[in-house]
Amino acid sequence: MSSDQSSVSSGSASDDAASQAESARATARKQLERAATELDLDRNAVERLRHPAKIQEVNVPVERDDGSVDVFTGYRAQHDSVRGPYKGGLRYSPHVTKEECVGLSMWMTWKCALMDLPFGGAKGGVRVNPKELSTDENERLTRRFAHELRNVIGPMQDIPAPDMGTDSQTMAWIMDAYSMENGETEPGVVTGKPEVIGGSPGRAAAPGRSVAIITREALDHYDQSLDSASIAIQGFGSVGGHAARLLDEWGASIVAISDVNGAVFDPSGLPVHEIPLHEDEPEAVAGFDGPTVSELSNEELLELDVDVVIPAAIGNVLTERNAGEVQADLIVEGANGPTTSVADGIFREREIPVIPDILANAGGVTVSYFEWLQDINRRSWSHERVNDELETEMLGAWDHVRSEVEERDVSWRTGAYVVALSRVAEAHRHRGLWP
Ligand code: GLU
Repeated sequence: MSSDQSSVSSGSASDDAASQAESARATARKQLERAATELDLDRNAVERLRHPAKIQEVNVPVERDDGSVDVFTGYRAQHDSVRGPYKGGLRYSPHVTKEECVGLSMWMTWKCALMDLPFGGAKGGVRVNPKELSTDENERLTRRFAHELRNVIGPMQDIPAPDMGTDSQTMAWIMDAYSMENGETEPGVVTGKPEVIGGSPGRAAAPGRSVAIITREALDHYDQSLDSASIAIQGFGSVGGHAARLLDEWGASIVAISDVNGAVFDPSGLPVHEIPLHEDEPEAVAGFDGPTVSELSNEELLELDVDVVIPAAIGNVLTERNAGEVQADLIVEGANGPTTSVADGIFREREIPVIPDILANAGGVTVSYFEWLQDINRRSWSHERVNDELETEMLGAWDHVRSEVEERDVSWRTGAYVVALSRVAEAHRHRGLWP
């Protein structure tokens, strides 16, 4: 199985990150408080937004291939739906917790609002290592999980998508299970499906495409040309892999990439088109060799002396332990929540700009929105149209955030939160509190 958000989904880097991690919910709440202060936001609005509206917790029994039964715990956290149906990924990972789903669902609310999509925020997942499931076991788990969530998901209610450890096949099974139970084919219940059953062209590459677009714009903002930029990318999945290839096509030099087994580094630039993406051949990065290629750890990659570092694998990799050692001039967050709040403070002090996840990787949910539109209208778009509209949406969001950053003299994260939060808070103000 490939993964939507990560090709570094298990092993030492993630175990380490999980053991000393600040929970995603804690990080998300601190970021909310910071932006609320900047916006001088009403205390009551902040109080509502600190909590998810609903968390569905389910125990999913799965028959293993040997006939035994294991039970896995799954969640769907629905944070806020003031702007539209809940939207966000489902991840399969041994590190999934309720707190993580809540934090990630808050980020989805801000991400959708920042992109001005008519969606709220949700996130869910199952606490399971998908590498330890056969394809049949994975299918049984997914179909039963979809069944357990049947009352909380739906095309106008909550629309899941791929995330870490899940992919288009996972979405196809969920779509099928939901459709079978409802008695009608309902492609709009999930996004990130295979194209033949209502998926959108360009969806799989979209998170990486948006990371590449935002990196290009950020370099331009800091008067640096893409041609002379050296870039290190952690992760070679749907975010890191596609970002690496596009940035390479646009002239940048990708000097380091990594997967769960480690990183490869070539100061003269890696031939990223020759290295298989995680979705085509998992874990092919660390074995890649060449005359000037050397091996590094995932941690060392983040500390390389490059122009841009893009953490595009898992959360909590930039922490108080290594934030002082980062030598890049710019950080673009490809993964969700790669920077803890303490590390964020260190980067602010060190004046290293951090372009936040809710902007940089928002291409994924933006093309999910295009997919949902195609599904509910029963009309497909061309790949070219998807990419053109994604480019327009990303540039629009970038311009909004940049004006806030310049006008308020705040970090890129706070600027992005100000745009997102003001839209969510205004929607709440208009709709009011019922009863
Ligand atoms: N999992 C992706 C994200 O974190 C996409 C979510 C979606 O498309 O709904 O943004």
